[in-house]
Amino acid sequence: MPGTTGASRPPSPAYQPPRVVTPQPPPPVFQPRPQYTPPTVVPQPVPPTIPVQPAARPQWIPLQSWAAQMGLPAPVRVSATAFQIKSAAGAFQLTLGTRAASWNGYKFHLGFAPAATNGVPFIHSLDADKNLAPLLQVNRPVQRGRGVIVLDPGHGGIDVGTKSVLGNSFEKSYTLDWAMRLKPLLEARGWKVVLTRTTDRTVELTERVLIAEQQQADIFISLHLNAAAAGAAGLETYCLTPAGMASTLTRNYADPANVVLPGNSQDFQSLHLAMRVHRSLLQNIGMADRGVQRARFMAVLKTQQRPAILIEGGYLSDRNEAKNIASPDYRQKLALAVAKALE
Ligand SMILES: [Zn+2]
Repeated sequence: MPGTTGASRPPSPAYQPPRVVTPQPPPPVFQPRPQYTPPTVVPQPVPPTIPVQPAARPQWIPLQSWAAQMGLPAPVRVSATAFQIKSAAGAFQLTLGTRAASWNGYKFHLGFAPAATNGVPFIHSLDADKNLAPLLQVNRPVQRGRGVIVLDPGHGGIDVGTKSVLGNSFEKSYTLDWAMRLKPLLEARGWKVVLTRTTDRTVELTERVLIAEQQQADIFISLHLNAAAAGAAGLETYCLTPAGMASTLTRNYADPANVVLPGNSQDFQSLHLAMRVHRSLLQNIGMADRGVQRARFMAVLKTQQRPAILIEGGYLSDRNEAKNIASPDYRQKLALAVAKALE
């Protein structure tokens, strides 16, 4: 646009060389003599809106304190390392340095070996909550809810399970027979019973859990028979490992103790159910007690929203137990023992 460019340009400022500043030493600073001044206590304002947090519970608690909290008599030392606590529901025996423990002589496993400080035995608070407290209730019947049980005969179809040491018989057939015998016994005790399979068919683990979901089952029981390379025999009853503890069986799977699984919402009732069934099987059938065990990798346990257990009702790799399991009378006893736990 004309008229805007006619103004004469201002003269360029004459070049001025930068001033050279000669650094001067800093002036001396007067240092006052240090003298003692008492520390000033600044009162901390109390935040008014933060809710009061309950005091953190100590991880380890004296066994005697736990007994007192539960209204039980003081623990009695029964050997150099073992302590017994009696309750109306029976006696616990806990041993320093080992997770193996017993309730009324039936084996179970703590998450942490009890330890002594200055001769005073301590237990982990997780064991108090997740192992000891449920066992104090074992003599109470299981909670029925709507009264629906899903029975899960292990394996099936192309998944034959373990093979009997005695010959051409497989776990999948025995577990189905066990479940079919158990069903009417539970129905006679007022339960509605649904099986995850009633024939020799392949059932994915996720489908087994889905069936329990669809049935809104109150309880899930998976039936299996065991195998081992070397001489093992007896009964194991599994339930999900509580968060914060190590499992007793990992089978080389990861065992992330810091993970809370859906099934952990049922920790109390699952152990209660496991010990009731475990005890009944041992009372009614002369099997070796390999204990209530903890596992985290078993899919049928970890994703359940209901009390869930897995029974390993003897070893098909053991000649005596394989012979027993091959007998229909014995399998009827296995079924009756489980049913009695659910009366
Ligand atoms: Zn199995």
